Amino acid sequence: MLRRLPPATPPSTTVPENVLPELLALEKIIEQGGPDLQVRVVREVSLASGQRFPIYSIGIGNTSPHVPAVGFFGGVHGLERIGAEVVLAYLQNIAMRLRWDTTLHQQLEQVRLVFMPIVNPGGMWAATRANPNGVDLMRNAPVQALDRVPFLMGGQRLSAGLPWYRGHPGAPMEVESQALCEVVGAELLHRPFSLALDCHSGFGVRDRLWFPFAHTRKPIAHLNELHALKDIFLQAHSNHQYIIEPQSTQYLAHGDLWDYLYLQSCEQAGRIFLPLTLEMGSWIWIKKNPRQLFSRLGIFNPLIDHRQQRVLRRHLALLDFLSRAACSHQRWVPGAEHYAQRRANALAEWY
Ligand SMILES: [Zn+2]
Repeated sequence: MLRRLPPATPPSTTVPENVLPELLALEKIIEQGGPDLQVRVVREVSLASGQRFPIYSIGIGNTSPHVPAVGFFGGVHGLERIGAEVVLAYLQNIAMRLRWDTTLHQQLEQVRLVFMPIVNPGGMWAATRANPNGVDLMRNAPVQALDRVPFLMGGQRLSAGLPWYRGHPGAPMEVESQALCEVVGAELLHRPFSLALDCHSGFGVRDRLWFPFAHTRKPIAHLNELHALKDIFLQAHSNHQYIIEPQSTQYLAHGDLWDYLYLQSCEQAGRIFLPLTLEMGSWIWIKKNPRQLFSRLGIFNPLIDHRQQRVLRRHLALLDFLSRAACSHQRWVPGAEHYAQRRANALAEWY
C-alpha cells in the first residue's frame, strides 16, 4: 500500500513573496556600507498590482566634479539577472574593503564610483526583458538608426506585446531610462573623464565588451581613447576572454541609451566619456547544461551555483580594472602625438 506523503513545505530560506532577492541584497549592502555610501532613490517604479520598487543609485569616493568617475549599471533587462549580480558583487567587494583597505581609501580620494545595479526592478520582478510597460529600455532613447536594423530586434514600434518595443513615438522616456540618464548626466558627463559599464547577458558564446555606436557603423570620436584602454587592459590581463568591438559589428539598433548619452557628452568640448556594455556570452552555460533551454531565465543566466560563482569572480577583475583605469586616466589617455597613426590602427582593427 502506498503511504501518502505530507504536502511539501517550502524550505525556510525561501525568499518571502513580494520581495526581489537582488533588491534585498542591495539594501543589505547599503546597510553594511554605512555613511561611506551616498544612497539615492532616483525614481520609483509602480506596477499595476500596486507594488512599488525603488531605483537606487549609490555613490562612493570623492564628490568633487573634477575627479574622474566610473558608473556600473546592471539589470536594465529584467531577465538578465546575472548582470545585476555582477554589479552587486563588486559593490559588496568595495563596501566590505572600505572597512580595512588603505589603498582603496587612497584610490577613492581620486575617483568617484557610481552604482546602479538594478535599473529595471519591475522587469526583474516580472522576469521580462522589458520594463512593466513592455518597453525595452535599450531601444527607448530618442536615437534613430542611420542604416537598416534587424527586423524587431533592432527596435520596433508595432506593439508592446512584441519584444524590443521602443515605446510610443513622441512619448517621454520610461522612468527607468530617465533614472539612468539622470544619474549619468549628474555623476559622469560633466567630468573631464568618465567610464561606464552596463552589464548584460544573452548574446552568443563569448563575453563581449561593446562600445558605441549602435545606431550607425560610423566610428565614434574617441576611438583612440578606447584603443588605448583596450591596450592597457590586454597588457595587464593577457589571458582575458573578452572580444572588444563596436556594437555595430554585431547589429544596429534604434534607441540605444548609451549612444544617446555618448552623443550628449560630445556636445561638451574637452570631456571624455567612454561607455562600455558587457555582454556575457550565456550560450556557453546552455551548452554545458542544455536543460536551461527550457527555462526562460536559463537562456540568460548561469543557474547553477558553481558556474554563477565563477562568472561573478571572472568579471570582478574587469570592474576593478575600470575603477583603476578611470582613477589613473592621465597616465594612459593618448595625447595629440601619434594621433593619426593610432586612429588608423583602431580603424583597421574595428571597421
Ligand atoms: Zn541585455
